[in-house]
Amino acid sequence: MKQFAKTLLVSSALCALTFWPAHAEMDVPALKAAIEKSFEADYPGLDALYKDLHAHPELAFQEVKTAAKLAAEMRAIGFEVTEKVGKTGLVAIYKNGDGPTMLVRTELDALPMEEKTGLDYASREKTNWNGRETFVAHSCGHDIHMANWVGTAKTLVGLKDQWKGTLMFIAQPAEEIVEGARAMLADGLFTRFKKPDFAFALHAGGVPYGNVNYRVGIGSSTVNGLYIKFRGRGGHGAAPQRTIDPVMMAARFIVDVQSVISREKDPTEFGIITVGAIHSGTAGNIIPDEAQVLGTIRSFKPEVRDKMLAGIERTAKAVAEMSGAPVPIIRMDEGTKAVMNDPAVVATAEKVLKAAFGDKLRLTPANTTSEDFSEFAGAGVPSMMFNIGVYEPEKWLAANKSGEPLAGNHSPLFAPVPKPTIQTGVIAMTLAVLGAFDQHARGK
Ligand SMILES: [Zn+2]
Ligand SMILES: [Zn+2]
Repeated sequence: MKQFAKTLLVSSALCALTFWPAHAEMDVPALKAAIEKSFEADYPGLDALYKDLHAHPELAFQEVKTAAKLAAEMRAIGFEVTEKVGKTGLVAIYKNGDGPTMLVRTELDALPMEEKTGLDYASREKTNWNGRETFVAHSCGHDIHMANWVGTAKTLVGLKDQWKGTLMFIAQPAEEIVEGARAMLADGLFTRFKKPDFAFALHAGGVPYGNVNYRVGIGSSTVNGLYIKFRGRGGHGAAPQRTIDPVMMAARFIVDVQSVISREKDPTEFGIITVGAIHSGTAGNIIPDEAQVLGTIRSFKPEVRDKMLAGIERTAKAVAEMSGAPVPIIRMDEGTKAVMNDPAVVATAEKVLKAAFGDKLRLTPANTTSEDFSEFAGAGVPSMMFNIGVYEPEKWLAANKSGEPLAGNHSPLFAPVPKPTIQTGVIAMTLAVLGAFDQHARGK
């Protein structure tokens, strides 16, 4: 490969290179060097895109400007782009001869929260969400994913002499409410377009930049949304005997429901009930007539989930009965299933990523967060989702020593270091896709 390395130094056209003859193993170090070189050239544009997306985030199914920016980027690279797939989603296709179709997904949406990083590109955007005005922030790193997605598309097109097939890059709306993947599938993602042979996605967070974490099999949790409305009888705070207090019911429920986790669920099985929002009342001296409780329920296994759902419903009804209140309104939304990382897809990617990242590639246990990337595997596409690090390594070590972890995803202080984070993503995703093309070409 020395010869190739030499070519690499003198050639600016990546596609003119040959990294591996037919049926030989991929030369990962040479490819990695080529990806790094093209990334360096692409980075000023990716940096500007990332900071623009970060400063102007949009919430689930409102990602109109975000989608338009990505559509323009992908058309400039040479992709054929279809907009408004699954409301605000987009599908970008690049055909390059006979071969498999590789889906690479990014999310488009941000979170209804205020960013407090103090970065000069921090978001100050506000919008309406469920009838209230809220700040909006890319505190989950989906802006990193979008920059990575565009960077990977550019790199793969630059390397188009190295693979044959079709790139199907999709930008999915509404991941945070786990509805976007289903919306795209319902809008004909796999019928109006081709059903892909493989699907890849990544998520940023958790570890220092330069690191890649992956999982085999279950990669994330099943999630169900929880909504309960306790119905009471409103009145004066000075005359509680004439009321049925829904705030009291909500408070009791929030505490008692944790006994479903600690006493009913098998302690060796994973399960979480989190109440993240309570809406009730307007003033300290008024007992309101209703209280709404919003939460999420997570598990890895369907039988554990079913047990938790039954326990939650029983607790909510019992709490209302204790207060002599009507039966509460209880909804537990379908949510999304656990991400399943296909063992064969992972085995191929693992080999290439190990050669590129060495001991910075780690096999980790399943993540307790949830992801609707699971919908694509659920529709029969062998898939893999992996994680890339975001933190300054020294700061991460110091934080671990001090016992005060750095701000993670969904924190108002979440602040990935842009360049090395996006670079890791582009290298890892490009190599994972090339590895899958190569494996397929060799008929394994
Ligand atoms: Zn998130
Ligand atoms: Zn996310």
